[in-house]
Amino acid sequence: MISNKSRIIDNACHQGRMTLTEIESKQLFAEAGFRVVVTKQAASKQEAVALSDKIGYPVVLKVDSVDISHKSDAGGVKVGLKNAKEVEAGYDEIMVSAKKAFPDAEVDGVSVQSMARPGIEIIMGMFKDAQFGPVLMFGLGGILVEVLKDVAFRIVPLAKRDAREMIKELKGHKLLEGYRGQEPANIPYLEEMLLKLSEFVDKTPKIKEIDINPVFAYRDGAVVVDARIGLEDK
Ligand code: ADP
Ligand code: MG
Repeated sequence: MISNKSRIIDNACHQGRMTLTEIESKQLFAEAGFRVVVTKQAASKQEAVALSDKIGYPVVLKVDSVDISHKSDAGGVKVGLKNAKEVEAGYDEIMVSAKKAFPDAEVDGVSVQSMARPGIEIIMGMFKDAQFGPVLMFGLGGILVEVLKDVAFRIVPLAKRDAREMIKELKGHKLLEGYRGQEPANIPYLEEMLLKLSEFVDKTPKIKEIDINPVFAYRDGAVVVDARIGLEDK
């Protein structure tokens, strides 16, 4: 049987694409057992409203385009839309901004997502090193960390101990324990996520790079909010 994963990857390859969209990337992660925020494709404004009604407000709308991978930079992300009217306006604004930022982009509509409650922002990623092969990256997200570049790396496959150490060695790891009364992250859950990611990478050699940014971490787990997968060209 052909898995959904191979179908999505093959489809992108046939189209000569090197990156999966956010929707496709999240489908792969959901299938691999990661918790992923509800994410549905809408090809029109009407569909976006119908899906929003179904998912429940507030929702998030994001541009869905195989040519746009940094969606915020293109004015392609609207969060906290509270009703159908806001979804309609958000849809129009995204289309206008995306066309302006990338006039030649093929835009397929939007993704409609449930609005995840705020958590500690985390990033997870993978790239392939010429010498060491796949390497996992774990870091704290958000503005502070984008400036400080507080990240840890380990070579795939990860052992339990690697996952534990990766999290511990972050300079900002105290933030995960609940800084100044903030909700703490579930560190064992994050360790499991890293091990699962390692296994996923190991089993999917067609994948060249992964960027999960952000994951929202909570006391009771964590959820993938944005994801991008890059493919090998052979
Ligand atoms: P980009 O392609 O620019 O990285 P993202 O999908 O990461 O776009 O969205 C930008 C930001 O919007 C995220 O970092 C996150 O803070 C917020 N966000 C995106 N999707 C959601 C969601 N479903 N629920 C809550 N916040 C979200
Ligand atoms: Mg992102």
